Amino acid sequence: MGWAGKLSEAVVSWGGVLRFGASTANDDVDGWELSPFTAARVHWRRKQIEVLAPAETAKPGDVIHEVGHVFAARRRPHVLEDESVFLGWEILIAKLLGVLDRWRDGNDYQIDTKPGYFEDIRHLSAAKFSSVARAAIARGATYGNIVRMQPVSVRRRAHGQHRRSL
Ligand SMILES: [Zn+2]
Repeated sequence: MGWAGKLSEAVVSWGGVLRFGASTANDDVDGWELSPFTAARVHWRRKQIEVLAPAETAKPGDVIHEVGHVFAARRRPHVLEDESVFLGWEILIAKLLGVLDRWRDGNDYQIDTKPGYFEDIRHLSAAKFSSVARAAIARGATYGNIVRMQPVSVRRRAHGQHRRSL
């Protein structure tokens, strides 16, 4: 199974739905929130992610980010103040799915490497990326979307089982 299938299974285990090749990805209505940079939309409350591209051509960076919005954040996208709370979660998910390089190449995260100075995550040296990843993972552990180095869902499930790893 490819990365998209594995990620879809994880989403199901967290009580959600990840759909590829969705024809309705441009509707920003009824609780759906349209992603500004990728052709996808999420319904945070219903735990649904719809991606316009089919699984074969979707970019792991885009899809993992949108899934992170739903399961690794406690507020819906339009009211979440700081998306970097799930950067470490994304890195661990991308590693587990075997797509870390593709995730990184498909991103334009601006990383705050010094006060007031931002660098594109794609252009960081290997050593710098490692230190950014370590800090992001520590941040996720504090936030609660990483437990014992495993990326987990922070969304409560009806029957109380709300932490499950990929
Ligand atoms: Zn986002």
